[in-house]
Amino acid sequence: MKKYITFDLDETLMQNPFRDWVFPEIESLVAPHLQVTDRILPEIIKEQRERVREKRDVAAYDWDDILEVVLAEHGIPIKINIADLVRKHSVDPKVFLLERNALTILGELKKRKFKLGGVTNGFYKYQYPVLEAIDLAEQMDTILTPCETGFAKPDIRLVDPLLKEGELIAHVGDRLDHDVYFANQLGALSILIDHQMPEVLKKIAPKKRAKQKGYLTKIFQRKIYDDLTPEENYIPKIIIHSIHELLEVELKRENLAVNP
Ligand SMILES: [Mg+2]
Repeated sequence: MKKYITFDLDETLMQNPFRDWVFPEIESLVAPHLQVTDRILPEIIKEQRERVREKRDVAAYDWDDILEVVLAEHGIPIKINIADLVRKHSVDPKVFLLERNALTILGELKKRKFKLGGVTNGFYKYQYPVLEAIDLAEQMDTILTPCETGFAKPDIRLVDPLLKEGELIAHVGDRLDHDVYFANQLGALSILIDHQMPEVLKKIAPKKRAKQKGYLTKIFQRKIYDDLTPEENYIPKIIIHSIHELLEVELKRENLAVNP
């Protein structure tokens, strides 16, 4: 049976071009149709958050549809293809690996007989051009997105195709509410990556970091989580600051799925 380690992509392994390139270009394309003081981006973000709140999990990541709805609401008669913009901006140095030696680390995990997967809420058409540009595509044995599965994290059905041919050993990601919860629900080893880990924490073993109350509390208080309660489902088994630490921790399933 294949043994998979899966990775979230954005903010875990790579920087996508949305914030710095795609959204600013949309702003400038739309600007001539707005009052001078108005901006379209807050409207786009508002529509996206609304979709998340309404648990329209897949639609919440369909940026082309989100933009189309927002433009129609404002009576702006232009068409913008976001997937085209993503392709245009998926070039060095606009998109990049968050860690320079990431490909070596992933290659090392493959030598240890693990299969690697990308598990992302980003649609395939927005993610694949980036993966290709930073040479991550060829490292991944599978890429799971909401487009073909119809589900988005934290819904564990997103990995159904993978579980048909293998076992999920560990999932690595930067979000407690998406990645950690998701891994815990699946009984896989939940690994949070915290690129901003304070230096003192780096000196503690990865398995013991989640038990540092003050540190964990601070992570839960991050703005992205609104008021996420620090319950067991959201607590990572391991916290790393760099993916090179994956080579030092024991990668095996927890088998204690919260809801098997
Ligand atoms: Mg992420």
